[in-house]
Amino acid sequence: MNLLKSPWHVVFLLGFLAYLGIRGAYARRTRNIEKVHRQVDRQEKILLLVVISSTMLPPLLYLFTPLLSFADYRLPVFVPWCGAAIMLPALWLFWRSHADLGPNWSATLEVRKDHQLVTHGVYRRIRHPMYAAIILWGLAQGLLLSNWLAGWSTLVPFLVMYVLRTPREERMMCEFFGDAYRDYMGQTGRLLPRLFGRR
Ligand code: SAH
Repeated sequence: MNLLKSPWHVVFLLGFLAYLGIRGAYARRTRNIEKVHRQVDRQEKILLLVVISSTMLPPLLYLFTPLLSFADYRLPVFVPWCGAAIMLPALWLFWRSHADLGPNWSATLEVRKDHQLVTHGVYRRIRHPMYAAIILWGLAQGLLLSNWLAGWSTLVPFLVMYVLRTPREERMMCEFFGDAYRDYMGQTGRLLPRLFGRR
């Protein structure tokens, strides 16, 4: 079993379980909150399917079967240490962004009944802390699993989703929250804090 090949696989697996645990807990909490708008077209459905399956399947196949071993490569010893160091803030940000969004969270582009615009906590300076957390998580995975397919299977598809989805999400938020969201955009950055206010 590949799992025993490296202690970093165990570190990744623990992080992976924490990642899924956070998602699962908030998905359960928000399951029954009514939606007033759903923007889930074919592109969004395909992106979701690709991202969910590529986040789940390749790492599990890699850890528990030898099927992906042909795509292994070797990295210097310090690289997985960097992966572990990135994994911790990634999980913290993933948890805090779910906690701060609370009942307003959706896995897809949706607006819920009594949806509130969240501008506090990890949303104070950046608009997409959850996406930032997923990018960090994908990077940590790549540094922990030295395999072309299992290592980068979260980051690469998610970056495609990020580029395609974020402008649509921001347009949807502008439609529903108008100037409040436009002002918020002026004070925040997408993934990194804005250093200067909007000119
Ligand atoms: N893009 C955000 C949220 C991801 S969850 C992030 O990366 O942190 C996606 C859903 O969150 C969207 O469907 C939208 O309804 C909701 N959302 C996004 N930003 C929000 C905000 N500032 N306040 C409230 N809801 C928000």
